[in-house]
Amino acid sequence: MQYTEIMIRYGELSTKGRNRKDFIGRLNGNVTKALHEFNNLTIRPKHDRMHIELNGNDAYEVIARLKNVFGIQNFSPMVKVAKNMDDVHHAALALIQATADKNASFKVNTRRSDHSFALDTNEMNLDLGGYLLKRMPTLHVQMKQPDVTLYVEVRKEGIFLTTEKIPGAGGMPVGSAGKGMLMLSGGIDSPVAGYYALKRGIDIEMVHFFSPPYTSDNALAKAKELTTKLVPYVGSITFIAVPFAEIQEEIKSKLPESYLMTIQRRFMLRLADRIRAIRGGLAIINGESVGQVASQTLESMVAINDVTATPIIRPVATMDKNEIIDVAKKIDTYDLSILPFADSCTVFAPKSPKTKPSLEKARYYEQQLDVEGLIKRSLDNLQITEVKANDHFLNNDMEEIASLL
Ligand code: ATP
Ligand code: MG
Repeated sequence: MQYTEIMIRYGELSTKGRNRKDFIGRLNGNVTKALHEFNNLTIRPKHDRMHIELNGNDAYEVIARLKNVFGIQNFSPMVKVAKNMDDVHHAALALIQATADKNASFKVNTRRSDHSFALDTNEMNLDLGGYLLKRMPTLHVQMKQPDVTLYVEVRKEGIFLTTEKIPGAGGMPVGSAGKGMLMLSGGIDSPVAGYYALKRGIDIEMVHFFSPPYTSDNALAKAKELTTKLVPYVGSITFIAVPFAEIQEEIKSKLPESYLMTIQRRFMLRLADRIRAIRGGLAIINGESVGQVASQTLESMVAINDVTATPIIRPVATMDKNEIIDVAKKIDTYDLSILPFADSCTVFAPKSPKTKPSLEKARYYEQQLDVEGLIKRSLDNLQITEVKANDHFLNNDMEEIASLL
């Protein structure tokens, strides 16, 4: 089919007034960014729909990009014809032939914003239904759940037809909720948490703790490669590598083994929060899941969360591991996440961390460290890069390992 435009129906747009304006403005910006490689598109955001005039571009190439844009409920590639019934008949038949089986059930669903057009919606439905049945007698009309629906829109500038309604990514336009810092490890959970944050409109920057020489370049490359998997939803993502080895060495040499994990996590959260403030973020997002490991019991969360009052969003907190894995596979992060490169937590993991640490003890032990000095030295050595669509960080070794898994 030679489609002429794509019509976008907005996602969760229950809000009115200013919020609606913000939503549409933000979505317009994100759609424009997602489609920047195409020449000649005209994007027209309206109150209740957005129209993209293709001007000769291939509809399916545009659709492939639109599928990653949050804030879109669904969209349809449409054919525009002049406002005469001959042209409408011709286009309707071509669409049905292209998308319906010979014996399919169908119905016609007309909307009309141009009330000066000769036929009203009912008359249009009857006329087109009759025409199609005459041309394709093996079809039959069915009002409830037909195989194919022919949608027709009579507008001032022409008549638009489609038989497709393609599900969009749902959610809210990225950035409409502000910005948050995603604590990205090399594991399965945190990339999934990042996906869900983006889906609710939170723009994310990655905060990744690394501990050379204890952690390898591969571990860092893996975290960056994971970042590339979330880039299609936003265009580019800032990646902040935070040196963590000195802090871990200090904790290990001065504090009791059973509190290593709790105190390390307190430092991670403190650093993430300082970076958030510097970068103008409003929240912290992580991949914690209640009860999954020692650091993720509610008691642990109490002892760790103590260092900040900033909202911490935990999108996967109540999900089972299998549910998280399903999403990781869907967003194509799973195969990377299971690559066996130790990250900074694994390297300094105590043999038996406290599953129920006490907040008072955590605070007490920590006083034996130069908390501010350690934080400052780490913040002085942040490595900030921008991860973009076509970036790659895996080297051949890693690809080989990945192919063996
Ligand atoms: P994940 O699969 O996300 O790594 P996990 O099951 O391995 O999670 P933990 O290692 O206990 O769980 O980490 C819990 C959360 O703490 C992670 O989801 C992540 O948000 C954060 N985190 C852990 N390690 C790092 C790191 N090296 N850099 C940044 N954030 C981290
Ligand atoms: Mg982890």
